[in-house]
Amino acid sequence: MSGPLLGLLGVEALPLAQLVAILDRADALYASGNKKTASMNGETVVNLFMEPSTRTRTSFEIAAKRLSADVVNVSESFSSAKKGETLLDTARNLDAMRPAVIVLRHGSSGAANMIAPHVRARVVNAGDGQHEHPTQALLDSGTIRRHKGRVEGLTITIVGDILHSRVARSNIFALVKQGANVRVAAPRSLLPRGVEALGVTAFDRVEPALAGAEVVMVLRLQQERMNGGYIPSLRDYSRFFGVNAHNLRAAHPDAIVMHPGPMNRGVELASEVADGPRSVILDQVAYGVSVRMAVLERLASATA
Ligand code: ASP
Repeated sequence: MSGPLLGLLGVEALPLAQLVAILDRADALYASGNKKTASMNGETVVNLFMEPSTRTRTSFEIAAKRLSADVVNVSESFSSAKKGETLLDTARNLDAMRPAVIVLRHGSSGAANMIAPHVRARVVNAGDGQHEHPTQALLDSGTIRRHKGRVEGLTITIVGDILHSRVARSNIFALVKQGANVRVAAPRSLLPRGVEALGVTAFDRVEPALAGAEVVMVLRLQQERMNGGYIPSLRDYSRFFGVNAHNLRAAHPDAIVMHPGPMNRGVELASEVADGPRSVILDQVAYGVSVRMAVLERLASATA
């Protein structure tokens, strides 16, 4: 990579060799039970979360603590953003307290890229608007590797709100880079125009998209990023695009089912599948801590 290392801002610009190195390290950490290490002893990680999060924030906090870092959590409702401070000013003030890493979740696409050149700390993008969510894509690839032994050559179908999903974008970049055959399926109104240019095959019906798929990744409707009018109703969406035991019969007999959470049960995914034997949803969450440890460790050693 050229230029200074600003952190992990997205998967699009992440070289394949680095992606694989992060997953290899995460595998080793996972195998050790995410054993506590001293790699970030004396360093501070700030979790700056300006949008709701359960899994990602907790996962980063646990990961940082396993590396012996001190962790400070700042959330929108308790931050001076409420008093009119800009994101850049908030980030620079937090940076003045000398954290090694700032982990940022924000509702605007490009937020992490915007602050990274202006702070001394490495910045990790924990989800910015509908742009990227790199650690989610890394943990998804790692989970696929653990269950399938590889990513290359697999047929992977992503079903759901592709248009508004940063998880879909980061996963498309990660999976295409690793040589998977990636399909996306959504109602036309939720398929980004020209999505095929990212190296995927687009479907506006779910059944053909599921045919023979070895991995099925289901995404939530991002209603907080919709101004209405994208789908007739949740019931219609669920009827035509919801993944259930019936339409999943078209997938490969050993297909695994993934979801980044939070899940809207009975809308995009039927409970019988979410809680069934093909589901690896909680494995994704477990592996997420290892991936975030691997990412933080890498950034901390780059600052040393
Ligand atoms: N948790 C993921 C994200 O923050 C997926 C979702 O919210 O649907 O993008």
